[in-house]
Amino acid sequence: MRYYDLHTHRAHPDIPAVELHPWHLTEESLEMRLQQLECEASRPEILAIGEAGLDKLCDTPFRLQLQAFRRVIRIADEAGKPLVIHCVKSMNELLALKKECSPHNTWICHGFRGKPEAASQLQRSGICLSYGEKFNREALQATSLDRLFVETDKSSLSIGEIYERMATALHVDCEWLVHRVTQNFVREFGNLPE
Ligand SMILES: [Zn+2]
Repeated sequence: MRYYDLHTHRAHPDIPAVELHPWHLTEESLEMRLQQLECEASRPEILAIGEAGLDKLCDTPFRLQLQAFRRVIRIADEAGKPLVIHCVKSMNELLALKKECSPHNTWICHGFRGKPEAASQLQRSGICLSYGEKFNREALQATSLDRLFVETDKSSLSIGEIYERMATALHVDCEWLVHRVTQNFVREFGNLPE
């Protein structure tokens, strides 16, 4: 995830994070990678855990994804850092895990493209939403500004252009929106790198 510099009007590098992406899990390497993740998660320069999560469209066995994600949830909660979640066609499982684990840290569903109903459901369970280029307009409009994050992910648009489009969709001033969302980044990630 990137954020936006209000003064220079450009994107900063990605937020330093450690990931355990569901696309790249193997049975053999899982334990080792979880141990690495656990070590790195507590390092002060690491500001978030992720991407991690669940993806029903990828080849990794779902059982293995669940096994890995459950552990990552615990590691992120113990480290007290936001969990950046990759969630594809697995919203019910995600909601069930949130309820079951009741973590104290923030969960952010990244690259959210779902409909407004899904946006509302995730927010009701306390999950924040991060939108990129392919956002659903009604979902964005149904998202509380306190729970809103903006990212480029794999888009060819700049972060500034994505903010512009969102500001238009929300009928708000772009600079105001950047300012508002930056507050969320600072609240959740603390000392953002220059
Ligand atoms: Zn992702």
